[in-house]
Parts: sequence; C-alpha cells; structure tokens
Amino acid sequence: EFLRLLNASIIYKFYFCTMSENTNEPTPLTDLGEFGLIERLTKNIELKNATSKLGVGDDAALIKNEKAMTVVSTDMLVEGVHFDLLYVPLKHLGYKAVVVNLSDIYSMNAVPTQITVSIAVSNRMSVEALEDIYEGIGLACELYGVDLIGGDTTSSLSGTIISITAIGQVDEDKVVTRSGAKETDLICVSGDLGAAFAGLQILEREKAVYKDNASIQPDLSGKDYILERQLKPEARKDLVEYFAKEGIVPTAMIDISDGLSSELIHLAKSSNVGVQIYENKIPLDAQTINTCEELNLNPVMAALNGGEDYELLFTVPIEHFEKIKREPLLTIIGHVTDKGSGNNMVANGTESLIELKAQGWQH
Ligand code: ADP
Ligand code: MG
Repeated sequence: EFLRLLNASIIYKFYFCTMSENTNEPTPLTDLGEFGLIERLTKNIELKNATSKLGVGDDAALIKNEKAMTVVSTDMLVEGVHFDLLYVPLKHLGYKAVVVNLSDIYSMNAVPTQITVSIAVSNRMSVEALEDIYEGIGLACELYGVDLIGGDTTSSLSGTIISITAIGQVDEDKVVTRSGAKETDLICVSGDLGAAFAGLQILEREKAVYKDNASIQPDLSGKDYILERQLKPEARKDLVEYFAKEGIVPTAMIDISDGLSSELIHLAKSSNVGVQIYENKIPLDAQTINTCEELNLNPVMAALNGGEDYELLFTVPIEHFEKIKREPLLTIIGHVTDKGSGNNMVANGTESLIELKAQGWQH
C-alpha cells in the first residue's frame, strides 16, 4: 500500500514511463512450476553481443572471447538487508541489481558483455512480480548492451535473494586494478557523491511517517534527483568510453559502493600508498546538500560514508591534469602520498588533517 502511494507520485512513474505496472491478478508461482517460470521470464531474450554464442536453454552458456582478458564479478542482493520491498518498485530492483554488477566490471576498465541471474524467490511473490523484476533486468541489459545468458531459479523460505554475475572483456594492457596508484598521482571521481544516501534517508523518513499515519501522502517533492540515485542508479559506462577515447589508462580504479572514505582506504592499501583529499573538492549536488541540511546531516559525511553512489574513484599520473580538469564529468579531489603519511582529508578552510576512517567519520 505504501508502494502504491509512492507510485502515485510522479517520481516513481517517471523512471519507467514506457512501462505500465502489471495490473493482472497475481498468478501464484505454483501455477507455472520451475521450467514454465524460467521460460516465461526469459522468452523475450535476444542475444546482441557477437561473443554470446549460446544463452539460456542448455546446461551452460557459451562465450567466444575476442579480447585477452575476461572479467567476472558477482553481487548478491538480499531482501531486508539490501532492499526493502516496501518502497523499492520491482522493476527498479531488477534494474539496480544489474547496474551494481556492471559497475564492478567498469571499475576494471572493462566492457561488460554478459550476465547471469540467479534468484531465490519467496513464496509471497507472484509470477507477475517476477516479470516486473525481469523487465527492469531487461531494460538494464538493453541500455548497457549486455546479454542475459543464464542463471538459476529456486524457492526461498524467507525473503527474496537475487545474485547476478557479470562478465566483461578488456585488452590486457588496459586492465586497471586497485593496486597501481603511485605517489603524486591525481585522485579523481566521476559525478557527485552522497546523493543515494540522502535519497535513502528521505524514503526511510516517509516510511516512518506512513507507519504513523497511513493517510498522509508521501512528500517527495524536490527530491527527484536523490531518489533516482537511490532507486535507479547508473554505472559509469561513459567514463570507460572516455578513457578509451582520450587514451588514458588510470593507474588504479575502484567503484564507490560503500562510500568514498572506505574506497579510498581500499585503494591506498592495495597500492601501498597514502592518500590526501580536500573536503572542499568533494562533488556534492545541491539536492544532496539541501536534503542533508533538512535532515540535520552533514553532506560531506553522506559522501564519505553513505555509499551506493556507483561513481568511479581512480588515480592518474599528474601529466593528465589539464585533460581531466577540462572534463565536466570529473573532479580532482586530491593526490596520492607516501604510505607513511596515511589517509587524510584536509578540512574545509583550514590546514588541519582529518584521518579517513572506513566507516563512521564525524566532525
Ligand atoms: P539445470 O537443472 O541444468 O541447472 P535449469 O533448469 O536450472 O538447468 O536451467 C535451465 C536453463 O535456464 C539454463 O540455461 C539456465 O541458465 C537458465 N536459467 C535458469 N534460471 C534462470 C533465471 N532465473 N534467469 C535466466 N536464466 C535462467
Ligand atoms: Mg540450475
């Protein structure tokens, strides 16, 4: 019911304006059985990539590699841990489940080509609900040019679990890991940070209001950007294309799924270096700042510890300074130091250093 109220708001309609909500009577999963269900969910799949030689329907899929390196990454989403079906529309869930996996492939500077989808469904779900999830999965596959080539389907006695494996390709000399950052390299991020966290806080607030009084229409006005960042994030396909076009190979890269602070620490540890960033350089959207002020939160903390931004954090040699500075998509937030200097942020308007912590940084 809460989701129906949210659906009535323009923001929820907007993302999938070409998709109508499933209004048929829910069909119980037992009506179809496992094979019927798999057939129904995968019937519209067309393989687009030349490397996808065989998809759903056999014991295994076949990929014919064109490039030297195959990149593989898996992520699992658990109901009640990673998503709340009270306010996450099923199509958005399917879309996001794919995108978070593709983000890991892009962070290796690779191009994703195939995914597999494994799903453990709670018996509270209907066939139509699963079709909605698969519509979101299908849309992401279309927009990012990847093929769904297989998966597994089973039932779950508790909540729903979705596990996606993404497969991609990259030339051997273009591979970027977390471990190549060198002293004096520039530290850069794409897009802006903290918005997905701000969006989540708004959804949680409205959920609490609804639980108190179900007749109050959720107030999401002026929150479209941060809600979109939370409910329908995008992976940075454009950045990997930019690197290819500009002939830049970052020295290290990681996607920001757990917050800037913890990703910086991962990157520094893997590369055996230290990092120094500047608080006033962290890119924040106006809606993130306004919302954080409204909720009495620090927007910089949302960027450092919030997570789910799916932007890319990377390091490049200083010779790329002019090029990167010209690119509106990118912000230089600091530089790589020696390991002994540690991982620090220069506080706004001062010279004092704040040590970056994996989680829970507070003024
Ligand atoms: P097996 O018993 O050999 O594991 P399955 O019956 O599990 O085969 O799967 C049959 C085919 O359907 C396989 O090609 C598998 O990859 C595909 N498949 C199963 N579940 C899904 C799913 N949820 N999404 C996409 N493809 C699936
Ligand atoms: Mg199977």
